[in-house]
Amino acid sequence: MGLRNGIFTVPKQNLSFTIIAATATRRIVTSFENIHSFHPMNTTAPPALPPGCRLVDTHCHLDMAEYQADLAEVIAAANRCGVTKIITIGIDLASSRRAVELAAEHEGVYAAVGIHPHDAGTADDEVFRQLRELGAAPKVVGFGEIGLDYAKNYSAQEAQLPVFIRQLELAKELRLPLIIHDRDAHEDCLRLLREKGPFPCGGVMHCFTGDSELAEQVLELGFYLSIPGIVTFPKAESLREVVRGLPLDRLLLETDGPFLAPVPFRGRCCRPEHILHTAAAVAALHGVSLAEIADQTSRNAEKLFALPA
Ligand SMILES: [Zn+2]
Ligand SMILES: [Zn+2]
Repeated sequence: MGLRNGIFTVPKQNLSFTIIAATATRRIVTSFENIHSFHPMNTTAPPALPPGCRLVDTHCHLDMAEYQADLAEVIAAANRCGVTKIITIGIDLASSRRAVELAAEHEGVYAAVGIHPHDAGTADDEVFRQLRELGAAPKVVGFGEIGLDYAKNYSAQEAQLPVFIRQLELAKELRLPLIIHDRDAHEDCLRLLREKGPFPCGGVMHCFTGDSELAEQVLELGFYLSIPGIVTFPKAESLREVVRGLPLDRLLLETDGPFLAPVPFRGRCCRPEHILHTAAAVAALHGVSLAEIADQTSRNAEKLFALPA
């Protein structure tokens, strides 16, 4: 395709190719809408959100190095795709502070503050004092990510437990919903959530990849389950089976960017607009339209995090 006298000229063979490509795309889009033939791995066509629909990326790490070269464009691209709200998540004091700054700088960006279990070893009284201050800042809508990670054990379990407990109490005091990170620590995590609860502002089990029994227990606590891009991975059939059975009014969607990009971006930097692929996969699993999943999960996120509709 070239530009001559201000008019685009398309060589004949390219034009016919364009038509064939457009037809092929339409076929892919149609199969996307046909939930029975849809399989998350079968297409690379970017799902498009119908006009008027919105999506909320409830868990992204916008402060991380991967985004810094073009952060404004990362947010703008998400907005163009209908991802109108992004919650950027703290993992330590510095990233929590940055989350608050990013929320102040960007429309549609909200913050969560907290100390990740990996960083539990760094949490002394001074960290807690500053965390309490940050938690009261404007546009802070959640407390997290906090929890327990027995898969990596970057901080000793004996260090993780008291830091988690103290943050559960702080979140309650600040009246913020909890954003829970639980990896291979279900028993302790659930026990502490039961012991220290109830939590009047509720919470979410982020990056949920557990089985239906775990899902049931999280739902019993009154928490939401946030589905990551993992649901599109070829080997995630058991997660897809679990997601099929979950109530739509308790589901959230997240990227956990820059990690865990859904298919077809797997292995690359995950950007907030990639959440469309996760949404399309969940829609297909529930046999509903992308618009319906977008609307329901956005309403859930707005409710939990008290975001403007
Ligand atoms: Zn996490
Ligand atoms: Zn995270």
